[in-house]
Amino acid sequence: MIVYDAHCHLEAVRQINSPRPLAVAAVNLQDIIKLDKYRQQNNLAKIGIGIHPWFIDPEVELINYQQQLIAIIETYQPDFIGECGLDYNKPHFEYQQLLCELHCKLAQHYQLPIIFHCVRAYNQLLQIIARYPTLKGMLHGFNSNSEMARQLTKKNISLGIGSLVTNPNTQIYKSVAKLPLEFILVESDSPFMPMTGQEYSTPDDCLTYATAIANQQQKTQQEITCRVNANWIKLFS
Ligand SMILES: [Zn+2]
Repeated sequence: MIVYDAHCHLEAVRQINSPRPLAVAAVNLQDIIKLDKYRQQNNLAKIGIGIHPWFIDPEVELINYQQQLIAIIETYQPDFIGECGLDYNKPHFEYQQLLCELHCKLAQHYQLPIIFHCVRAYNQLLQIIARYPTLKGMLHGFNSNSEMARQLTKKNISLGIGSLVTNPNTQIYKSVAKLPLEFILVESDSPFMPMTGQEYSTPDDCLTYATAIANQQQKTQQEITCRVNANWIKLFS
């Protein structure tokens, strides 16, 4: 049984041409052409468009980004917005917040799910999300406690769980037993988030993560897989 990957990148999936559910995120606006081509090869793939906080160009004005995003959304009809978000470890944090808000505004306007990247900025993200009450989406690479999970899921933001759940030193490893199953998705963030000791990740690693979640939640791996796949369909369809 395949675990549907809720977050991965083109570099990891280009060779996967047979139909298979994968949510493939952009990191910049140029990605859309390759993503659109990929969706034609794999008609079960969902593709997103967004500007990852690591790839923000502070020279580009917000209004320019807005015009480009709208043009892409209307031309290519992506299945979701993302990835976008906040990373406190990276420069231009103020501009990151403006751009993150722009993505939320467009996701709400076009009624598309949104995929967030968030590092050391959960509270700032919650403040932005609060202004967009009909938003739905997922915070990828969720790595926090069950109280933060409660605050996010209350706002219809699901929790993307990946390789960190296999590492006993992470927050997600410690909190996953208490997280609500109806808001959990599994993701590889491939090829960029390998398990400790591996060089890169692939969508097939999602099975290992589903097993790790199952062990902690005291469920079978099949139960978790059915659940997260249903959550995937609900979020992206
Ligand atoms: Zn990613």
